[in-house]
Formats: sequence, structure tokens, C-alpha cells
Amino acid sequence: MNRRTLLKSATLAAAMAAVSTSQTSLGATRSPKRIIVIGAGIAGLAAASQLAGRGHQVTVLEARTRLGGRLWTSQAWADAPVDLGASWIHEMDGNPLTALAEEAGARLITTSYDSVIDYDVNGRPLSAARAARLATLKDEYQWAIDQGQRHSIDRSLRNTIESELDWASLSNADQELLAFITNSTAEQEYAGSRNDLSTYWFDSLGGYDGDDAVFAEGYQTLINFLARGLNIQLGQTVSAIDSSTSTVKVTTNSGTFSADRVIVSVPLGVLKKGTIRFTPALPSKKTTAINKLGMGHFNKCYLRFPTQFWPQQDWLEYIPPQSQHGQWSQWLNLGRLTGQPVLLGFNAGDFGRQIEAWSDAQIVASAMARLRLIFGQQIPDPVSVQITRWSQDPFSYGAYSFNKLGAKPAMRDDLAAPIGNRLFFAGEATHKNMFATVHGALLSGRRAATQAQA
Ligand SMILES: Cc1cc2nc3c(=O)[nH]c(=O)nc-3n(C[C@H](O)[C@H](O)[C@H](O)COP(=O)(O)OP(=O)(O)OC[C@H]3O[C@@H](n4cnc5c(N)ncnc54)[C@H](O)[C@@H]3O)c2cc1C
Repeated sequence: MNRRTLLKSATLAAAMAAVSTSQTSLGATRSPKRIIVIGAGIAGLAAASQLAGRGHQVTVLEARTRLGGRLWTSQAWADAPVDLGASWIHEMDGNPLTALAEEAGARLITTSYDSVIDYDVNGRPLSAARAARLATLKDEYQWAIDQGQRHSIDRSLRNTIESELDWASLSNADQELLAFITNSTAEQEYAGSRNDLSTYWFDSLGGYDGDDAVFAEGYQTLINFLARGLNIQLGQTVSAIDSSTSTVKVTTNSGTFSADRVIVSVPLGVLKKGTIRFTPALPSKKTTAINKLGMGHFNKCYLRFPTQFWPQQDWLEYIPPQSQHGQWSQWLNLGRLTGQPVLLGFNAGDFGRQIEAWSDAQIVASAMARLRLIFGQQIPDPVSVQITRWSQDPFSYGAYSFNKLGAKPAMRDDLAAPIGNRLFFAGEATHKNMFATVHGALLSGRRAATQAQA
């Protein structure tokens, strides 16, 4: 996911960092409570570790047989651990993940969006003239968004770009570049389709400053660190939460658990599916938020080759013809990061969703057709692949949340709002300004823990 168009909010970042520091310095509680945290992703683990640290009796119930949720480091290649969920700490300066990674003793490697080669529709590096046109159109694209954000009604990002820039009057060559800009800066970042992203709110994301970094040994390092000493029960799929009496009852596939308070940190996609029954039913503000916020599609395809045949830049980008919108347009070179000949292809939005229905062989054939167009027919087939399908995952049903046409940022506060003093909500989708990120999820978990211990 590429954080290239972030709206920075240093003040907010500083305030959040201050909140998290003060939380961790609080002493033990005088009235310990039984608290269940549903979900062992980073939000749930952050909440559980804060609460356990204050002396509460905390149980984490996790449906999967592993920790981390959308943080998932695969060890399938022993010499090159790869992250199938999130990879990056985005903007490390002031980001609470940076301090946590340091505490965990994690080794971080920075990547740079300036280290990039762009390939044109025909597979050749962009000519100087086309690169200059791309730069001009990036400005026009931004101008169109500014217009759209002042327009009297909200429209999809695609509608805004096409109507503000008088699409029919543009050459096919310019349309290709604009579609590529929309894909690489909006769809690949926010995971929503250009047909669904709200022009008003798609980029209402706060951030920090500085470089982006990946974990040399994978994000798992952080998860294992946060999970130390916690009582976590794996393989517990929650199907019902009853908070109609003073003791909250949580039903799973293997029994019923009771607690004074419950923190729900399951992904928005799971709430949308309605696989957890709430008694009493969730308030209408919360169900409206669940229905209206979008859950995006974003998938990774790791290809491991016998040798490296591509240049050593961090990023390789390809401008597809319009009939292949968003297809294999972004690649990360893991040669420098892992020391192994591995390429990672990203697909987001509509194409990211479509290919989930394909077999691995079909996905690899499609990826290889693209790479052969760029690097020639002689390049070898991959020796091994790892492919994600986050939107089919029954404990995620999507990659991460986005602001969909019809949604408003305030709906994230509705999603986060506690119910009575018994039910609390965490997870990336509940963070108004830092949704879709690992740090947003972490901060949401700390916020829910603070609410639950009050
Ligand atoms: C492919 C991909 C790439 C990404 N890249 C980045 C990146 O580079 N940087 C970044 O900042 N962010 C990135 N993100 C987003 C980031 O991964 C998420 O925002 C963050 O990990 C979400 O954490 P969470 O705790 O809110 O949710 P989750 O990690 O999804 O945790 C929720 C937990 O609830 C569990 N659960 C679900 N249903 C039930 C149930 N019924 N009963 C019990 N447990 C249940 C799940 O199994 C899961 O463990 C990426 C996401 C994806 C998918």
C-alpha cells in the first residue's frame, strides 16, 4: 500500500503519541475486571496488553489458529520471510509503531518511492516526453480532486476525474496515464475501486512524517512481542455476544465465556457479513456505519525466481491499457530487502477482487504475461509463489476499510462508540483519521482499552 498522497496531521499525531505514552505509564487497577477481547490482531493485542498490564483479568478469543490477523508473516520460504498482510510502518517519525518496533528489537529496512522505474503500455521504460506528460497530468488529477472536494454533491473518484477533466476530449494516451494515476495513488492505497471511493473523503487520512520501513523478519516480530504473557485462546470463532445483562456472554464454536466487559476488534468485513449476532441488536448508527463504510480489496502475489532479471529499484510500475485497468501496475522488488530473487505484485480495487476467483495458475499466468511484456519472453517461470485472497478470508472479508461514496468520516466514530459500559469497539476501521493502517489499529486498541478500564 503506497502512502504517497497522505494528508499530514502532525498535531493529531503528536496528540495521539502523548495519549499512548500516558496510558502505558498508568499503575495497577484497584478494581480488576474480567475482560474479553475478541480478535488477536494488533488492535486486540494492544488492548489486551494494556488491560493485562493494569491487572485486569483478560482473555483474548481468536478465531484463527494463529496470531496477528491482517499481520501475517509467512515462513514458507525459510530464507525470506514475507508479509502476506501489512508490510510497512508508514511514516516512521512520531509513529507509535516505531517505538514499539524498537522495544521489540525488530530490524527495520526503509524503502523509497523515489526508487522507481515506470514502464509504458508497450512494456518499455517511459520516454522523457511521456514522463513529462505524466507529471503534468498528476497536477491536473490533483486539481480535479480539489474541484470535486468543493463540489455541491459527493461523487465517485472516477466520476470526478472524468467529469472535471472533460474525459471525452482527452486522447487515449492521456486517459491511460490518468487511469494509472488514479490506480496507483488512490486504489492501491485505499483499496477501494475508483467507482466506489468518495471524492470528498477518500483521502481524509492523517499521518506522520519520515520514511516507510518494512520488518526484516516480518511484522510477526511485533505481534509476538505484544502477545507476551497474554491469555489467548486460538480457534475460538465468536458467533454471538449477549450484553443484555450485567454479565456479557460470548458464544464461540466451543462454548460460552462470561465477562464484565468485552472489546470487539473484528474487521469491518466480518461485521458487514453479520456472522456475529449481537443481543440486543446493534444501534442503528452503528449498523449504518457498518453498511456504508467500504471494505476494500487488496492482494499480494509473491513470485520467487531462480535469479533476479529486473533492475534493483525498490518499485517497478506499469501503465496498463485502459481495457486492463489496474492490472499488475505495481511491483515491489524484494531483492534488496530479502537478498532473494522475489518480486511482489499488488492488485487493488476491482481487479484485486476479481482475481480472487482465479486459480493460482491463472493468477501466475496473468502476472507472467505482464512481466514478459516488460522483460522479454526469455525470463524464467517462478519456482515458487505465495498468493493472498483477503476478500474470501472468513475472518476478514476484505483487506481494509475505505471511505465509500455515501459514507462520512464521522461514521467511524459511530463504529467506535461503546455500547453501555459493556461493549467496546476497536480495529482499524474504528479510527477516524488513521483507518486502513497498522498504527491506526494499534491506537484504536489502546483507545478501547482506556474506555474499558474507566
Ligand atoms: C494485503 C494487506 C496489506 C496491507 N499493508 C499495510 C501496510 O503496509 N501498512 C499498514 O499500515 N497497513 C497495511 N494494511 C492494513 C493493516 O494490515 C490493518 O489495518 C491492520 O492489521 C488491522 O488490524 P486489526 O487488529 O484492526 O484487524 P485484524 O488484524 O484483522 O484483527 C482482527 C482479528 O479478529 C479475528 N476475528 C475475526 N472474526 C472473528 C470471530 N468471529 N471470532 C473471533 N475472532 C475473529 C481475526 O481472525 C483477526 O485476528 C494492509 C492490509 C492488507 C490486507
